[in-house]
Amino acid sequence: MFSDVRTTDLFVGESLIPAIIPVLRELGIEEKVKAFSVYKPGATVWVHPDLMAEASFAGGMNTLPTYAYNTNRRHFDALLLQTAREAGVPIVEMRAGIQVQNGKVALSDETLSACRAYFNGQPDFFIDASGRKRIFSNAMKLPERKGERMDTALFAHVKELEFSANYGDIHMHLATRGWCWRIPLPDRTSVGIVINRETLANYGTSSEEQFDRYIQEDPKISPFFKNVERISAVQKYSNYQLQSQRITGKNWALVGDAAGFLDPVFSSGLYFSMKYASELAATFDSSSGSTLRSYEKRWHREIASWRKMIEIWYNGRLFTNFKMGNDRLSTFLGKRIGKHAIRHFTAIFTGEAVLNRYSMWLLRFMTGPLLNFMYFFRMHRYKVKDLEL
Ligand SMILES: Cc1cc2nc3c(=O)[nH]c(=O)nc-3n(C[C@H](O)[C@H](O)[C@H](O)COP(=O)(O)OP(=O)(O)OC[C@H]3O[C@@H](n4cnc5c(N)ncnc54)[C@H](O)[C@@H]3O)c2cc1C
Repeated sequence: MFSDVRTTDLFVGESLIPAIIPVLRELGIEEKVKAFSVYKPGATVWVHPDLMAEASFAGGMNTLPTYAYNTNRRHFDALLLQTAREAGVPIVEMRAGIQVQNGKVALSDETLSACRAYFNGQPDFFIDASGRKRIFSNAMKLPERKGERMDTALFAHVKELEFSANYGDIHMHLATRGWCWRIPLPDRTSVGIVINRETLANYGTSSEEQFDRYIQEDPKISPFFKNVERISAVQKYSNYQLQSQRITGKNWALVGDAAGFLDPVFSSGLYFSMKYASELAATFDSSSGSTLRSYEKRWHREIASWRKMIEIWYNGRLFTNFKMGNDRLSTFLGKRIGKHAIRHFTAIFTGEAVLNRYSMWLLRFMTGPLLNFMYFFRMHRYKVKDLEL
């Protein structure tokens, strides 16, 4: 395994979802992760400063642990590397270089000579886990699918913020033109804003100025950032919605962000990377019944579900559904339907039911045709467009 050093200590991917816990257990590292993380029992979404939607992970179908962690990413990555080392994986600490011929990957001469101790000639199979560097996709010019959003995310650490409710949850806030997150970490709070770059340009020229001004000046989020003190530089991410159309080939496979990344909103990145790393590993075990083909098929199917969820977050349908449902929670029908829907929606967002056909159908139906029908017959008065991000 080749491991290049990160150029920054500050890296996104701090909030985990329950579906990652089985992978941490499989690796035997959950207790170690817990030691440098904050226990995360759910997610809290602030539609505006005095209307919040709480989703406890215990409200799903309970086939998964009902919690996750908010973690220190630097410690998390170091732990994964150490775990690999202890399992006997030889780790070459350098940036791997590759060459491609006739759709087959090979190590560059320089990289090959740096690891002569491990290989007699070229390795048989290659996995690209290089994250957004996407080294195989770039070298092979693999067809890719870009997402519709062209947002910029600015992210930094600030001195511990006060949480008026639900400490431990990730808190997501709808801003005037985008959204922001607050993630409680052991001795600090992670804050990120996700917004289109034209809006951001009105808040200054440097990332630091834009970040500091936006969280103080947007009236929908500023109440949550009183006396905020930034303690890190600001990292900027843009154009991150990118997915490869092919993730396996003659002697190679892609995993993690190198295969594709959709959006930060549901904290699915690390879960998705680690779950499919585990599935990819299973394809090398002939008794597992898994093949590269089935790996690729499952990956595409699951990413399509996450894409749908992300779409309804940005197009306003999820919040419209929440507001409409909230008005009806005290009625006989509203209580029953609401309970059923919340159970399925929670299970989807924890990763538990993301491949469950009925749950996904219900989400599509309730945020699509049902909303339209009820609006048409004046059974609710919310315009989806008003809650679009
Ligand atoms: C704004 C934003 C917020 C996010 N928030 C969350 C969140 O809260 N929760 C979550 O789960 N996910 C989140 N994500 C997604 C998450 O960061 C990624 O999905 C996750 O880091 C992917 O892991 P990875 O291992 O594929 O890639 P990376 O974490 O990028 O790791 C790739 C590694 O490969 C190394 N490397 C690169 N090239 C080479 C080479 N040639 N040779 C050797 N090594 C190399 C790099 O140094 C790096 O260590 C967020 C993403 C964004 C953009």
